[in-house]
Amino acid sequence: MILNNCSGVSIMQQDAFDQNQKAFTTYPSIECNEEITITLDSVKVNILCRDSMKKPTAGRADTNNEIWVIGRKMNDKVVLNQFILGHELQHLLNWKDGRIANPDGEN
Ligand SMILES: [Zn+2]
Repeated sequence: MILNNCSGVSIMQQDAFDQNQKAFTTYPSIECNEEITITLDSVKVNILCRDSMKKPTAGRADTNNEIWVIGRKMNDKVVLNQFILGHELQHLLNWKDGRIANPDGEN
């Protein structure tokens, strides 16, 4: 098993990561000591290494636990837009457990 605490993002991503985290911490929140565990069955992630998604769609997900995101090749590795991947994963979590907010802001 590999466990990663995600403390070392690349310098290129640091600004975006910091801005996103700053925005997240400004969300109004009531005190929450709850831990939620959600198990998703057979999540399939499709990575399209081209800008072929219809604009303005940057990613999509469906209720069969399938996600599509755009990747970019960099130094022989495919890099994903982590914000979009997280957004699409949150859709799967929302569909599985209604305690998780719809990332599009709807119920
Ligand atoms: Zn969405």
